[in-house]
Amino acid sequence: MPSIVNTERPTDAGSIDGGLLVLYCRLMRRTIPALVIVSLLALFLVACGSGSSTGQGDQQQSGDLYADSIDSSADGGVTASDLQSDDAALDTSIVADLWAADLADDGGGTSDSQDDALGTDTTPDGVSDHLSLSNLTAGVTTLASDEFDGREPGTEGWKKARAYLLEQLAACGLQPAGTDGYQQPVTTGIGVNLLARVDGRDDALRNRVVLLSAHYDHIGHCGGFICNGALDNAAAVTSVVAIGCALVSNPPARSVLIALWDTEEPPTFLTEQMGSEFFAANPTLPLSAIDVAIVLDLYGGNFWGDYKGHLLFGAELSPELRAALDATAVPAGLEPLRLGLHVIEEWYYGHEAWSDYDAFRNRNIPFLFISDGINKVYHTSEDDVSHLDLPKLAIEAQYLHDIVLTLANAQKTPTFVANGADYLRDAVEILALYDAVLAPVSGLVDTLVLSDTSAALLQSDYLAVQQTKADLDGGAVATKKMITSLRTAVQRILCLAGSLYPESACNI
Ligand SMILES: [Zn+2]
Repeated sequence: MPSIVNTERPTDAGSIDGGLLVLYCRLMRRTIPALVIVSLLALFLVACGSGSSTGQGDQQQSGDLYADSIDSSADGGVTASDLQSDDAALDTSIVADLWAADLADDGGGTSDSQDDALGTDTTPDGVSDHLSLSNLTAGVTTLASDEFDGREPGTEGWKKARAYLLEQLAACGLQPAGTDGYQQPVTTGIGVNLLARVDGRDDALRNRVVLLSAHYDHIGHCGGFICNGALDNAAAVTSVVAIGCALVSNPPARSVLIALWDTEEPPTFLTEQMGSEFFAANPTLPLSAIDVAIVLDLYGGNFWGDYKGHLLFGAELSPELRAALDATAVPAGLEPLRLGLHVIEEWYYGHEAWSDYDAFRNRNIPFLFISDGINKVYHTSEDDVSHLDLPKLAIEAQYLHDIVLTLANAQKTPTFVANGADYLRDAVEILALYDAVLAPVSGLVDTLVLSDTSAALLQSDYLAVQQTKADLDGGAVATKKMITSLRTAVQRILCLAGSLYPESACNI
């Protein structure tokens, strides 16, 4: 990987954007002038929440892209906001009606009947009602509804969302764990973290904690439309609360801290006003008691089309986390990929974090960052419940529940290896990802109808990673070139699958 750090580091760059730089610089070394790089710095992706500076601005950009297509249909016809509100309103009412009808039928709401009503198979045995497809669907539909107006900090919609989440935490008997009940005001800014606790059942391990978290704020409006933020991050918040509720009646050996972070989105991203950073700087319990911090961002959706990929980062930095993931059965219908964080953080111009895990990683606390990756609805007004993969959400929430149980019941305490890496595993997982990317019909290339140029570059990335794997299999020590092949391969997918750049920007 080129080690020249670009001093013109973007002030508010989102993580993914920079990745393109890796591609650009490789091509720049061949052909492309520096100004292309500057324009790329305007690109942003992340993740997770590491939305671009103004959110609005870039969203304007993507909003504009999106808006253009809408405006063309708005000549006296239906406008996007009409469409937008009707859809969301429709979804909410359908689920609410079905929910109500079934509760009426059952006189009390056993999970089986609720799922039947939604035409899905019944909740498998042993799965908590809280983790049923219908419960998760109802939760994310509510949190990502227009009523909460895109949950931008400081707005009425954001206050309503917080009140709704406080009700959910109390309703299932989670213990308050904030400085003011469930709340921890972020006194460096305007945010309010929400913290709840399940006390562990084991006397020896009750003071050890598994932290399970996701940010609940979002960016409000995108180009004049409500950005409901279902993928970012309502589905994750709903799952975190549901898992916490499921553990109340079945507490593991360690205690579990449920944290709903605030002010993760720009402009507070990676600042002391960021909810997770504020918590880590002002913890409500000794940080040394946290054995692992699990952070979700961009959850409950698909990278593209119907791809069931599910990304887990951070296990390369803790052998005990790897063992816990190895020990947790992967449910059918999900394709977990364990990747080193470096493939999404190390860019030509430097290091960029993606989401709330940063506060814990920086304090050498073992962590897992779990995401379904960026896609075409990211930070757009299209990011609503209708673009989630709800059956997948139920499967990955159950998987996460099981991972939490494995970690919270483990005898060993996870350790943190700051410079841990497993490039061979990265290569294996990236090749599995590329098998899906290049698959006929269902792959990224065919699903997004990418150009021959994109397809050819993806093919060359694939071959480069295959070579890296062969070299590492042969006992070679990972070289900069090998590591760059891993990073480029993932970063090109993020660019092409993401919402902010025309395809050509990913392949210049
Ligand atoms: Zn996010």
